[in-house]
Amino acid sequence: MSVIKKRFLIILCLVFICSSFFLSSCKKAEEHSSYVLDAVYNDGVLNGKLRYKFVNHYNQPIDHVDFNLHANAYKENSTTKPVTDLNLAKAYPYGISYGYIKILDVEICQQKREFEIFGESDGFLKVSIPTVYDGESVVIDISFETTIPKSKLRLGENEHAVNLADFFPTVCYFSGNDFLHIPYSPIGDPYFSQISDYFVNLTVPSEFSVASCGKPTFTNVEDLNTTYSYELKSARDFAFVLSKNFKVFCQTVNGITVNYYSFTDEGENNLKTAIKALDFLTNTIGKYPYETLTIAESGFLYGGMEFSSLCLINENLGEKEKQLALMHEIAHQWWHGGVSNNQNLCAYIDEGLAEFSVFLMLESSSLPLAEEMILNAKQAYKSFFDLQSVLSGNANTVMERQLSTFKSEYEYVNLCYNKPLIMFYEYYQKFGKVKAVNSLKKLYLSNFGKEIYKDEIIKAFGHGDHFNSFIDGKVII
Ligand SMILES: [Zn+2]
Repeated sequence: MSVIKKRFLIILCLVFICSSFFLSSCKKAEEHSSYVLDAVYNDGVLNGKLRYKFVNHYNQPIDHVDFNLHANAYKENSTTKPVTDLNLAKAYPYGISYGYIKILDVEICQQKREFEIFGESDGFLKVSIPTVYDGESVVIDISFETTIPKSKLRLGENEHAVNLADFFPTVCYFSGNDFLHIPYSPIGDPYFSQISDYFVNLTVPSEFSVASCGKPTFTNVEDLNTTYSYELKSARDFAFVLSKNFKVFCQTVNGITVNYYSFTDEGENNLKTAIKALDFLTNTIGKYPYETLTIAESGFLYGGMEFSSLCLINENLGEKEKQLALMHEIAHQWWHGGVSNNQNLCAYIDEGLAEFSVFLMLESSSLPLAEEMILNAKQAYKSFFDLQSVLSGNANTVMERQLSTFKSEYEYVNLCYNKPLIMFYEYYQKFGKVKAVNSLKKLYLSNFGKEIYKDEIIKAFGHGDHFNSFIDGKVII
């Protein structure tokens, strides 16, 4: 071998080593944990296989992965019920019904692993793993079976549709040096998630249409069943709504496909509202985080519910309420999807930002509607405050607190929707629309893909005294 060849080979090796190092360090920085989910739905039961790739981004060795088993909140004798007693009859109009998830098997590299189901209502799953260090990953295979209750909840079969959220194990949020165990809650949205990539196949009897998170990648019809495949990157969650009666309205705008699944021809008009909202929020706040936006109507206890790139809307709302719910859930694609927060501890953040975004949307199209929204929020909050003061002598108006500390949905709505809307609105009044909107953009852009607390809001908007006085419960409205 000649010297020249040797030198050439050494240079080649160095280039190879450097580029591999560069590529692997790039990969390490970009790779999210991922869910590869195969689910088969049939007659109220969903059988699933989840392949979860856990990527350690936490600068410490980790020897277990904990998952939420949200479906167990729906089981008999659950102590973390999905609905308050006050709403029991509305949530279960067909009679009380239960749902739950059974973990059938957990494997790593085709070897069975021990697992533990723990916490209130068996709400969590702990899987021990071979220790993974920062930048390393482990793939966990979990087989499960989920029974779906007959209900108008996030997981439930109703007259016209099947709501499929909360049905598979989702990793608990890692914070500090362990996974957080957030109990399910009948009040609010008991979720907190980091962004992950999702690759999902759902097989259903072919008479069902499927409204889903993510971009459809493949459809396969076999015998009487159809398998739909989806991909969704950098997302917070994944859910479906199934129905045999959906009418689908669809339009692609600026490269984003917007789908509206409804039971009536009203869907066509609601699709237009969705497109307007998408356009307004993109221009006002920043880039929409996904390639598709799907809205599905269904039987649902509340006005709506947000998932990454999917909004669930209560089919029975009046026209005006439906439009408002639609705008609110679409705004969550920015304030939950793009930028998220601990919805157990600071629900006021995504709810308040979504409400303020709706206010800006209304203001851009019709001033009376925007004014009405603020007036309603102020009146509702004042009545709440007066009532609380009479009942307890001292109304607790602190906004940042665990969902379990809210005594009622009435208290939650006033402190996590109305009061933060007033907080952002008064900022807008005091410091002007330009500053408020620029701060909103800054908050979104500088925290995209991350989770925020009040400090990030104050950093983007400034005027910490204004925000602290609301959040700590000191301001008089
Ligand atoms: Zn909301």
